[in-house]
Amino acid sequence: MPLLVMKFGGTSVADLERIENAAKKVRKEVERGYYVIVIVSAMSGKTNELVGWVETTSKLYDAREYDAVVASGENITAGLMALRLQEMGVPARSWQGWQVPINTTSAHGSARFVSIPRDNLDAKFAEGFKVAVVAGFQGVSPEGRITTLGRGGSDTTAVAFAAAFGAERCDIYTDVDGVYTTDPRICAKARKMDKIAFEEMLELASLGAKVLQTRSVELAMRYKVRLRVLSSFEDTDETSGTLVCDEEEIMESKVVSGVAYSRDEAKITLVTVEDRPGVASAIFGPLADAGVNVDMIVQNISEKGHDDAHPGAVTDMTFSCPVNQVERAKRAVEDARAAGSIVYEDLVVDTDVAKVSVVGIGMRSHAGVAAKMFSALAAENVNIKVIGTSEIKISVLIDRKYMELAVQALHDAFELEKA
Ligand code: ASP
Ligand code: MG
Repeated sequence: MPLLVMKFGGTSVADLERIENAAKKVRKEVERGYYVIVIVSAMSGKTNELVGWVETTSKLYDAREYDAVVASGENITAGLMALRLQEMGVPARSWQGWQVPINTTSAHGSARFVSIPRDNLDAKFAEGFKVAVVAGFQGVSPEGRITTLGRGGSDTTAVAFAAAFGAERCDIYTDVDGVYTTDPRICAKARKMDKIAFEEMLELASLGAKVLQTRSVELAMRYKVRLRVLSSFEDTDETSGTLVCDEEEIMESKVVSGVAYSRDEAKITLVTVEDRPGVASAIFGPLADAGVNVDMIVQNISEKGHDDAHPGAVTDMTFSCPVNQVERAKRAVEDARAAGSIVYEDLVVDTDVAKVSVVGIGMRSHAGVAAKMFSALAAENVNIKVIGTSEIKISVLIDRKYMELAVQALHDAFELEKA
């Protein structure tokens, strides 16, 4: 049976009128012969309000009760969506996570899927229901308690249902009309892409493009779920939005397909650490234990590398992490120094940096991307502080005040405004 998953984010179900508008899009697909699983978010702002209530009531809250409260926003929109569809003559039924059941781990607040058995929904479809409206973002633990998947988790619910039910496509309806080459608020020339490969979307999502929860892209890539991002505020058809798909589906791909940025980075340098085996481990072990998300790491090569002739060789070690983890990182490093496990002369912290990255699967087979990126930045007099690369991405740390300029310069240099 032809089946679609349609997910509506918070702004798309923000009030009764918008729920009706979304329901009309669902009815259209039913009229075209599809069974539909609708995944809904909470009305926009609702989840924040619920989180606030929990935090005000209990500082060190019980995570099980956090989930019980915070999951409730989606229950409201699921019921209202089913009612609206019924009013339109579409046979629809709502489902909370535990009713499906959406089985998850018991990691409250950031649970992961374990299984989504099809039997209950399939039985309802067999009875004549055309639409199952499922509350996103939630599930049930092995202990039988309500869980949530982490903020933005409804995207991941949608992809998981598309995989479990073999949906033809997973359409993510949101308040933007697709995925852009970069943030249109920063770069006026940003262009909506028709298609983007899973790997690229994964890099862009984890680098800060906020359209999709990163885990939803990971899941889509693993199960080859064709994922489409499109606007719920426009008239849309099969060609609207941006399709996130396997790279084989993308006929001609550019070397670089997008520019991403992340504003809230910090750079920390341990000046003059010993250059000998075990030093990196002595630094990054305590950082990991302290829960610091270390991103880029640079270790200079000391002029006289460590060997038997140069037992006293020294170097500098630099790493980056989110700016709100700087205090934690400093404490971990200083504690390790006090305990004698690492030795350094000075700790230099720079909290005014941003990360700008170019992403593209074409980089795998093309040389010269880094050179082009660096020359574009040089032409704008932007100094590069740290460079990091992966197979399909090059990232640089720069002064935050040049972030917008760098994004625009790179967008121009790689001619991303052209399709
Ligand atoms: N309502 C939840 C949130 O705001 C989940 C979602 O909308 O994806 O994080
Ligand atoms: Mg979202």
